Amino acid sequence: MTDRAFNFNAGPGTLPVPALQQAARDILDYQGLGLGIMEMSHRSKEFMAIAEQTESLFRELLGIPNNYRILFLQGGASSQFFMVPMNLLAPGTTACYLNTGTWSAKAIKEARRFGTVDVPFSGEADNFRRLPEPTDYTVAHGCQYLYLVSNNTIFGTQFSSFPETDVMLVADMSSDILSRRIPVERFGLIFAGAQKNLGPAGVTIVIVRDDLLDRVADSVPTMLRYKTHADKQSMYNTPPCFAVYLVGEVLKWVKAQGGVEAIEQRNEEKARLIYEMIDSGDYYRGHAEPSSRSRMNVAFNLPTAELEAKFVAAAAKQKMIGLKGHRSVGGCRASIYNAFPVEGVRHLVAFMQRFERENPA
Ligand SMILES: *Cc1c(COP(=O)(O)O)cnc(C)c1O
Repeated sequence: MTDRAFNFNAGPGTLPVPALQQAARDILDYQGLGLGIMEMSHRSKEFMAIAEQTESLFRELLGIPNNYRILFLQGGASSQFFMVPMNLLAPGTTACYLNTGTWSAKAIKEARRFGTVDVPFSGEADNFRRLPEPTDYTVAHGCQYLYLVSNNTIFGTQFSSFPETDVMLVADMSSDILSRRIPVERFGLIFAGAQKNLGPAGVTIVIVRDDLLDRVADSVPTMLRYKTHADKQSMYNTPPCFAVYLVGEVLKWVKAQGGVEAIEQRNEEKARLIYEMIDSGDYYRGHAEPSSRSRMNVAFNLPTAELEAKFVAAAAKQKMIGLKGHRSVGGCRASIYNAFPVEGVRHLVAFMQRFERENPA
């Protein structure tokens, strides 16, 4: 494994090497059964044990109370943009959405198909550099839920704390789930596509408070009801078996690292190293306002677009892959998810210093 690059891709992102090594063995032969992990019945006792273990480890690591169900769904995080309002927003009722970037805008568009959507804050005018302070907006009385994206993958912003409100929170945590401790009990529902911090693409984890399962209207199709999947332990139909298995291996790695608290400290350290470099001069400019900065995705610019292109290409030659920013922001983006090593960050910071010296503005 000495040839692995430092993978700064925003998603799918880098995964822990021990989890990949275990998967490489289990793909061919799972525990001497003579068949691989992708080839066994999802109702076999071996796979049922994997699914149960993945779920209980996830519950343990995030401290998820027993009145919440954990679901393994397909369709990507983007399917949750409609499943959330389809299940939780009755016609004629209102939900409140904070518009903090591309992913929230897409969720707002879908929610409008089901009920009234109130958007008391939008960061669009300043290209989503800043997240709202609690005093920047009010949540209308009677809102069914307040929806937010905890980490805005594209713009590199992240809520450092969550809104204090009586209304239940619903969050898209696709790009920072398991990167820090979270007060689960303040949320009605949390969802996350796996491919940033949890595992491979193909499974979306939903954490939903059990009293919300019965809100769904009769007209909602079976597969799109949270209750269907909750009642059958995510085995109503064939679950994304391999993805669930690999999430389990990633969770074992997180636990071996010391759990979410230890991971959180390491993530703070990694982000601090890059932001300190950015703040040390005028050559690099962070996209996000300092108070809104993400510890998962660091979006930044160089003095010109030409220098940015040269930077990305030169970094790739030194095995630092995936530093090009999203097309809607331009510039560069370093995604430093849980499995991204501290050495890789040090490597990047040294490269940034060198590049600035050798390529004056
Ligand atoms: C990547 C991402 C999504 C989209 O995930 P898909 O699984 O591709 O649908 C949604 N929300 C956030 C915050 C993301 O980072």
